[in-house]
Amino acid sequence: MESVFTITDQLLLGGCIRLEHTAHSYEGRRISVYTCGGGPVKVLAWSQMHGNEPTSTLALLDAMRMLQGDKELQSQITLTAIPMLNPDGSARHDRRNAQGIDVNRDAQSLISPEAKLLMDTWQRTQPQFALNLHDQETRYTSLTPPTPALLAMLAPECSAGHAITPARKRAMQVIANVADILPIATRGRIARYDDVYTPTAFGDTLMRLGTSSILIEAGAASVHNDAQAPRQAMTKAIMEALRSMATDSYLNYDVQAYDRLPLNKEFDGYDLVLKHVAVTDTLGNYQIDIGIRRVKPTCNPEDFAEHLNEYRVLNIGDLGDATALRSVDLQGYQLNGSHETLYIGCKIDFTVLAPDGKMIHIPSLLD
Ligand SMILES: [Zn+2]
Repeated sequence: MESVFTITDQLLLGGCIRLEHTAHSYEGRRISVYTCGGGPVKVLAWSQMHGNEPTSTLALLDAMRMLQGDKELQSQITLTAIPMLNPDGSARHDRRNAQGIDVNRDAQSLISPEAKLLMDTWQRTQPQFALNLHDQETRYTSLTPPTPALLAMLAPECSAGHAITPARKRAMQVIANVADILPIATRGRIARYDDVYTPTAFGDTLMRLGTSSILIEAGAASVHNDAQAPRQAMTKAIMEALRSMATDSYLNYDVQAYDRLPLNKEFDGYDLVLKHVAVTDTLGNYQIDIGIRRVKPTCNPEDFAEHLNEYRVLNIGDLGDATALRSVDLQGYQLNGSHETLYIGCKIDFTVLAPDGKMIHIPSLLD
């Protein structure tokens, strides 16, 4: 991932952004710590501590570039940013680091060099606020009918008893402020992340230590031609959070506004239903719907986003009453192959022929 940082340095350095420090992952990949701005409100932000969550890094870099052009905000905050805290995981598209450790469950023992770097940076900068940036499970929704949540935010617990300490209250207020100020289309798709107290996680740990920690999770696009929407929504959320912290505008919001955000829910239907696909072979011709779902080939339920592209056929037939995150009407489209191409449990590595003769590879509908 050296090239990413070379490009990042070219794009970002100069102006209000300085390369503060470089460290290394367990396997020796570079991790950069940048400082942006010079104002009195100190914020620590990091992304992609889970290697398979790249949207968070893109959004953080976008926000840093925006900060580069915002002189007022630069004078109000000092942002210490660590984009891609887990480059070894990123290289493998794996949640965990090279040692197999979930860096976000290593805030106490600091076994991984990535967790140690984050805690050292926190100790050195003593921020009032922290932004912990992730990509969330694409099957999380906040609405009825189910639409993937575009963003989920959380002010983590800092004890088992749901205590609202001053640090946690500030985090809740900032989230309420951000949720209120984002564009309407985004606002309806913001969820509150589940808040089970996790003492080994960074958000919970830093909150306990007095830093107002905010988790922001980029969700999923609802239609396949809207792939940039989660990145754009997260970038905007980061910028609005920084403005709220910089100007104290969060003080105008109360904890109840945070509580009113809909809770993230795991969706239990199909990820994709293909409607009205024609099958024609030597034995006959007919039309079917195809229900597709992402499978989780992992024994740890926390590794939810490990194999993003492992989609399989879960059902074939009339799926007129099925609930799905997305459904595509393929009326007039022909399965490329015989009826044996399709079976329950098969991977979705098949194609359909459009009426104009164009071949469509089914995985491309999930991009
Ligand atoms: Zn994550």
